[in-house]
Amino acid sequence: MENRYNGLEAFAPAKIKTAAPETPKIIQTESIPAPPPVAPMPIVSPPVTPAPVVQAPVVQKESIPAPPPPAAPIVSVPAPPPPAAPIASVPPPVAPKVEEPSPEMLALIFEKSFDCPVCERQFKAYTTKTTVKLEGVDDDLMPTYSPVDPLLYDALVCPNCGYSALRANFSSITERQAELIQAEITPSFKHTPNPMIMNIDAAVADYKMALLNCIVKKGKLNEKGFICMKISWLYKRKGDTKNELAFVKQAYDSFTAAFSKESLPFCGLDENTVNYVLARFSMKLGLLDESMRLISRLITSSSISPRLKERAIDMKETLRTMIEKAEK
Ligand SMILES: [Zn+2]
Repeated sequence: MENRYNGLEAFAPAKIKTAAPETPKIIQTESIPAPPPVAPMPIVSPPVTPAPVVQAPVVQKESIPAPPPPAAPIVSVPAPPPPAAPIASVPPPVAPKVEEPSPEMLALIFEKSFDCPVCERQFKAYTTKTTVKLEGVDDDLMPTYSPVDPLLYDALVCPNCGYSALRANFSSITERQAELIQAEITPSFKHTPNPMIMNIDAAVADYKMALLNCIVKKGKLNEKGFICMKISWLYKRKGDTKNELAFVKQAYDSFTAAFSKESLPFCGLDENTVNYVLARFSMKLGLLDESMRLISRLITSSSISPRLKERAIDMKETLRTMIEKAEK
């Protein structure tokens, strides 16, 4: 089964638990007063994104002087450190994290067929199963999964004509929009096949294609904002703060403009969630007063879910500290 929640299962833990993804607009459950959250623990306190693969070899390398330690694990330790290596406090540059697909990962990815609404041809794309495990949700609502991440697979690109969109919106396109894509995207499009185990760079390229398509087809501002938000998450994972903030800014501008022109929900996000996201964006962008205004108003909303309210209250505390610091 395909993951249909567009990376936002986090908002509806009950749905994730039941793994019955037949209702696409999960976010709307946010506005229902008291959906008893099932086992909220893992969601409230997201475990820090682990990177065990990277850490292990470093320690090993440093602590192996001469006597070769017993058999098994050593074989997989990359290369021994150069003899003259100083016992530095700064860890040596670790080899780039190459995703070794485990059988468990491979079992969660499959090729699915899609019908392109622009060129009307069929194509296949790698897709994650819904059984991927949600590990937690960040303050900015970025979900973390294991062992494979549906976020990396969410932007679909038709290899034939270059039409691209996030999966939830892929088939929603008007005739006029399809013509615009064929006129402005298809002629210069060159297809690059994706690896089965997606990496962030490949995902960013697909999301940017979806963003370009959204602009060319004169798509909705909230769709543009949603794509930009997800690109900012990808850059955050990469540790690329500059690009993360650039896309946070685009998402902020798009959602803000969408509020006055388009009707909610925005790509499944209800009003409270959009306000929370906007408060987060403005905090990241240093617009602390704006962020405080948004979060204060959100906390007093009668329709806010207990879970979002809890996040909002935590955020208000952080924000207050930041504002006090800035005023000194
Ligand atoms: Zn196509």
